Amino acid sequence: MGDLHVFFFPFMAHGHMIPTLDMAKLFASRGVKATIITTPANQPVFSKAVEKYTQLGFQMEIRLLEFPAVEVGLPEDCESADKIPSVDGLPRFHKACAMLQPPLEHLLQELRPNCLVADMFFPWATEAAAKFDIPRLIFHGSSYLAMCAMNSLRTHKPFNHVSSDSELFTIPNLPHELKLTRLQVSPMERSKLETPTPFSEIFKRVFESEDTSYGVIFNSFYELEPDYAEHYKNVLGRRAWSVGPLSLFNTDAEDKAERGKKSSINEHECLKWLDSKNPHSVVYICFGSTANFAPSQLHEMAMGIEDSGLDFVWVIRNKREEEKWMPEGFEERTKGKGLIIRGWAPQVLILDHPAVGAFVTHCGWNSTLEGVCAGVPFVTWPLFADQFLNEKLMTDILRTGSGVGSKEWKSADCDGVKREAIAEAMKKVMIGEESEEMRSRVKAMKDKAKKAIEEGGSSYVDLGSLLDELRAYHTKH
Ligand code: UDP
Repeated sequence: MGDLHVFFFPFMAHGHMIPTLDMAKLFASRGVKATIITTPANQPVFSKAVEKYTQLGFQMEIRLLEFPAVEVGLPEDCESADKIPSVDGLPRFHKACAMLQPPLEHLLQELRPNCLVADMFFPWATEAAAKFDIPRLIFHGSSYLAMCAMNSLRTHKPFNHVSSDSELFTIPNLPHELKLTRLQVSPMERSKLETPTPFSEIFKRVFESEDTSYGVIFNSFYELEPDYAEHYKNVLGRRAWSVGPLSLFNTDAEDKAERGKKSSINEHECLKWLDSKNPHSVVYICFGSTANFAPSQLHEMAMGIEDSGLDFVWVIRNKREEEKWMPEGFEERTKGKGLIIRGWAPQVLILDHPAVGAFVTHCGWNSTLEGVCAGVPFVTWPLFADQFLNEKLMTDILRTGSGVGSKEWKSADCDGVKREAIAEAMKKVMIGEESEEMRSRVKAMKDKAKKAIEEGGSSYVDLGSLLDELRAYHTKH
């Protein structure tokens, strides 16, 4: 015990920092010393948990690297993706991240860990670790299915062989016949531009680093997507380990309530409200940490929610004074039926409440897994990143949800889904025979998720073999 020391270095976005903290806790619970690397403004995401688990006898610590925001022309406090002022700021943010390579190398030299688990967005971390003969593992924070599908899209470019943006094509060489339209593929991927953009250059390095790194660690579990775990390892030939679902390592109410940011609502108040509702009667609506809707879409969403007639908890990321889009009288009309949370919700705590009957989600991978772990069926509304691919897993393959018909990959000002489609999808997942079938399928998957992380379960065993390999590597070198 205590013989391995692993560094965990997440990209500074909540969808990456939250599972990385859970992963560090998991490794620490298996006797590994876990050091989390982050920047000063992001320390609060980790500090409470690290303090608590250290007191419980785990070996955990945080090391900070100064983030050069101002040097790249970003505001001083811009240390996480949700603070980036506009889409143009993203390449600058990545530039500042890459500038963390030298200070990271100092830390590697000083502490000589046995392994570096670094985010996909830090491709340069592989080179940094290699200087000290330290194996680097990549954490994408995504599904096997999404990684396999993205590889296929990049290799075969099937979107070049359709005659319109809305014509369906099959993603080639995958275990299932999965279809997308060109508009549902990232513009960077589908553009025929020969001149690389700063962002496409970053992604090129990200994919190259998959070939040069020691392997990839997944927040997933074998039983959820076995065909894609096999495909990734055996067809694409990557070394990979599944250690999830990581959110299940938050077992008490305190851990579940405080993930990422402090909740904008008192969790007792929120749970009391849910306690007053019947089992499976409330729809939880939340789109993660970075989704950005056009005001007209938020208006349409409110109308769809109201038209469904269902009870709801709706997480809105903007402030009340920015809510010119809110339909007049919406809050009065839905009083008692709906709870609006402005800001950050205690998501896992809400999903785990028996009153929650469906989850309207953007299919961010963490949210998707959290829904599975709670046994709640999905209304899928993908927006960008890997979300259209995760949607396929939940709707087409596992048949645990139904979509609102999201048509276009967009990272800002998302729009285009009509109130009728929203209300209809919500009712389909909440009421009737089909909804019961979806619920029973997702509940069966919930049980498999729990088993996967228990002693002897697939993720438990996979982590054990990774740790054994790292020990063997350490002894040999
Ligand atoms: N989350 C939360 N409260 C919120 C919004 C998000 O706790 O109000 C958490 C959610 O539980 C998940 C993460 O933030 O763990 C979001 O990750 P995901 O991959 O779903 O989406 P992203 O933010 O990366 O788009």
